[in-house]
Amino acid sequence: MSTPENDALTRLADVRQDLATCATAASRDPDQVTLVAVSKRHPLSRILELAAAGQRDFGENYVDEALAKMADAGREAPDLAAAITWHFIGRIQSNKTRALAEHFDWVHSVDRAKIADRLSAQRPPELGPLNCLIEVNVSGEASKGGVAPEDTPALARHIAALPNLRLRGLMALPAPESDRERQEAAFAVVRELANRINLALSAAGGAEASAPAPMDVLSMGTSGDYRAAIAAGATHVRIGTAVFGARPA
Ligand SMILES: *Cc1c(COP(=O)(O)O)cnc(C)c1O
Repeated sequence: MSTPENDALTRLADVRQDLATCATAASRDPDQVTLVAVSKRHPLSRILELAAAGQRDFGENYVDEALAKMADAGREAPDLAAAITWHFIGRIQSNKTRALAEHFDWVHSVDRAKIADRLSAQRPPELGPLNCLIEVNVSGEASKGGVAPEDTPALARHIAALPNLRLRGLMALPAPESDRERQEAAFAVVRELANRINLALSAAGGAEASAPAPMDVLSMGTSGDYRAAIAAGATHVRIGTAVFGARPA
């Protein structure tokens, strides 16, 4: 019998298989591509189904919704909950940074110094540095979050110097585009920007022991364009609809 749950498990397996195929086609190791299952607006029961099937990374966009799911997961399925890595991928309001710093493992959508400062100040030291990505507004859309590509190197230097954040890379959500070559071109801009920032950070750090570790993450690709993203070097793809089906309204 087909239920939403086993549909999701079938889709999860299909997406995982496709990610591996895309990685191999790009001469990349499939283990270097992490699937972040984007669970916004889906109930916790769906998350736990996938977690029980081995999915570990989940992405959420809304802080209050995510905190409620985390708390419920801890009560209902503590072992599964403890195995989950939570990624925040939504717009960040400054009054929510403490919740992000205390409850998430990764924040993909840092786009200004003030937010980075707050996250670093509010990160409980015993949790270790918070993994951060800079969201780059690669398509120049005024309605979207993200820092302009030309302002990204300065923000990277700023974050790399904060004690309780670890700058891991860049995130992008390009404007929807159906042409595969144009999808790939947008993602390649992000990859090249990351390469330039890594060179600049290592030059600035010189031989000092305090030179930051190079960025090693490119979070890019959704249900509509993850194949192009993997071809362009994505290490983390954020996929909602292709795994969970359509989001509830
Ligand atoms: C919702 C969302 C996704 C997932 O989109 P799908 O089209 O459902 O795969 C990925 N990234 C961000 C930033 C999102 O908000």
